[in-house]
Amino acid sequence: MADKYRCKICGQVVTPLPDGSCPICGAPAEMLVLIQDKDDDVDPTKK
Ligand SMILES: [Zn+2]
Repeated sequence: MADKYRCKICGQVVTPLPDGSCPICGAPAEMLVLIQDKDDDVDPTKK
C-alpha cells in the first residue's frame, strides 16, 4: 500500500513523486500531509 498524502496547495490526495513533491501542482514535500488510514483526523473535510 502506497502512502497517501494531501496537498496543502491544491487540496488533492496524491502519491508524491520520487522527490517528494506533489504530482498535481508541483508543491514541495513540506506541503504534503500524510493521511493515515486508521486516523484521519488530519483531514476534517474528508468526503
Ligand atoms: Zn498539489
